[in-house]
Amino acid sequence: MKTLFSGVQPSGIPTIGNYLGAYKQFTELQDEYDSYFCIVDQHAITVPQDRLKLRENTKTLAAIYLASGLDPDKITLFVQSEVAAHAKASWMLQCVSYIGELERMTQFKDKAQKQNAKEGINVGLLTYPTLMAADILLYSASVVPVGDDQDQHLELTRTLAERFNNRYNDIFTVPEVKHPEVGGRIMSLNDPTRKMSKSDDNAKSYISLLDDPKAAAKKIRSAVTDSGSEIIFDKENKPGISNLLVIYSGLTDKSIKTLESDYAGKSYGEFKVALGEVVESFLTDFQARVNEYVDSGRIDDILDEGRERASRKADKMVEKMERAMGLGRKR
Ligand code: ATP
Ligand code: MG
Repeated sequence: MKTLFSGVQPSGIPTIGNYLGAYKQFTELQDEYDSYFCIVDQHAITVPQDRLKLRENTKTLAAIYLASGLDPDKITLFVQSEVAAHAKASWMLQCVSYIGELERMTQFKDKAQKQNAKEGINVGLLTYPTLMAADILLYSASVVPVGDDQDQHLELTRTLAERFNNRYNDIFTVPEVKHPEVGGRIMSLNDPTRKMSKSDDNAKSYISLLDDPKAAAKKIRSAVTDSGSEIIFDKENKPGISNLLVIYSGLTDKSIKTLESDYAGKSYGEFKVALGEVVESFLTDFQARVNEYVDSGRIDDILDEGRERASRKADKMVEKMERAMGLGRKR
């Protein structure tokens, strides 16, 4: 069975963007692959976090992974910082990465700009992709289901794997990226030219998976739309309506073509009310499943077991990396 790896940062409560770009794919793929899902808290500290909030989000994220439909008996769910191999492998991969290639990452440029306005830019933000490469390569993952925004990081992961394989020893599987058919990049509700992000300062820009369902419907109704009145998918000229069509399609599995014909002749207002209802009922069901997991008291056991399984696999790869690079003593 081939291996799959993916991660989500506990940098906030995941959004419907994260659901459609990441979690929904995970549940569709869990039967086909030996699947490792990670709560990447070490990635989250590349931007300032409140210590208690971070811990709370880490637990909440576990419940959200499970509520998305992952079966804890089939998959391995764990917290990144609890598996020491990630930081070790990241260091080794930093030593085969070039500053120039890390500086070219658009996520680094975007987040660095934000940080620079407040204080200096921390080094972790620059080396983020080497940690992400470590996450993936440690498990010999052949597929990485993520949103479109991660393409550049995945490409760098492939480059680093190949470079390491050529320079030291052929130990890494070069992974492929996988995007969902619909919803690989959900845009912000108040600026449809920007990606929806859970760490956005403006809560009106996203729908969090734990938003009050009625308040979420309201956010949809007040989402920025475009000039004109037709409900058609046209990313260039109608980024707002196109984004809402993608959300609708992703949550209902109705094709965009079907939605366009269902809403032909209807107003933006009617369409947004209908999508608001879709979002409201989706969140109501989703949150009931989150609560079930929280109440079950099983989350810590699932994460403990996940840590053991992940460590066993990742430690072996770290040993191979160290041997290839000549670190430590002969074993
Ligand atoms: P942050 O703002 O802290 O970076 P984020 O919302 O970008 O948070 P991440 O934890 O960085 O979330 O990413 C988790 C997963 O969700 C990744 O697979 C990423 O590609 C995907 N993802 C993030 N934002 C979107 C989006 N707007 N649409 C679709 N997928 C997304
Ligand atoms: Mg992100």
